[in-house]
This record gives sequence, C-alpha cells and structure tokens, in this order.
Amino acid sequence: MKIKHIDHIGIAVRSIDEGKKFYTDILGLEMEKTEVIEEQKVKTGFFPITDSEIELLESTEPDGPVAKYIESRGEGVQHIAFRVENIKEALRELKEKGVRLIDQEPRKGAGGARIAFIHPKETHGVLVELCERE
Ligand code: ZN
Repeated sequence: MKIKHIDHIGIAVRSIDEGKKFYTDILGLEMEKTEVIEEQKVKTGFFPITDSEIELLESTEPDGPVAKYIESRGEGVQHIAFRVENIKEALRELKEKGVRLIDQEPRKGAGGARIAFIHPKETHGVLVELCERE
C-alpha cells in the first residue's frame, strides 16, 4: 500500500464551539467547515494545515463513539488518519497480512473521503484511519 501523508489528526472535544477557540484565537488557524456525519453520530470541524488537517470531533448523540471515548479517556487525540492512494487495495493487503480491521470495506467519511479504521489492538493503542480522497 502507498501511504501519501498524514491526512488529519482527529481530536475528540465536548464542544467544537469551545474547542475551536484554541486553534483559531491562539494558533491563528481557520476552521474551514463543519459537517455532520449522521451514521457516526459526530460533527466535525476541519482546520487545514498544508497537506494535513486538524479534525475536531463532537458527538451528536450521548451514545456516539466520540461521546464514549471522552467518557472513558477524556478529551484528546482520538485517531490519526493516513492518506492512501487506493483504500480498497490497502484493505485487501491488510486482510492478507491478518491485520484486524474495524471496517472490512471503506465507508463514507467527512469531506467525501472514503475511510476505514484499523483495530487499535494492531497499532499499539492508536486508532488508525485510512483515508482516500479524489
Ligand atoms: Zn478522521
């Protein structure tokens, strides 16, 4: 598989409105857009930095994965996403190598990306997302 670069770093926050202040007021970054991903019960806010982005994640439901993450571990870095050239090929390769996946097939992520998560047991505790964009 071909990893191109770090696509984004996902940070779980209780509130994007609160969480964004550090990135805008202190770091001087601009939040490009927010987007709700219904099936993941999450609202995202993206701060582009060259080839990468900071992605703030706010749960839209009390039982969403981001809410559960904050409940057990507090706010903080929730996942790291690598941009791949071809996500289908990358998943096939990982399966061949016996790597446990959360997503067997790509699903829809924010910004029209196709994404899939690798099981954190395989990555020494880091939730790794693979991400392909047009
Ligand atoms: Zn992500």
